Amino acid sequence: MSRFVCKDYGFECDFVAEGDDVSKVIDEYSKHSAEVHGIEYSKEALMQFIIRKG
Ligand SMILES: [Zn+2]
Repeated sequence: MSRFVCKDYGFECDFVAEGDDVSKVIDEYSKHSAEVHGIEYSKEALMQFIIRKG
């Protein structure tokens, strides 16, 4: 299961994206980040974040 916790990236935010499908988690988070925080991460960058967390 992959998990993306917004707080882990320095935001005061309770958003968590999680699921079995990494690409869906990334999609969900990138949408959230763009809409709520005005930051557009590339999918590659988000993939790196997930990989680094193990
Ligand atoms: Zn957030």
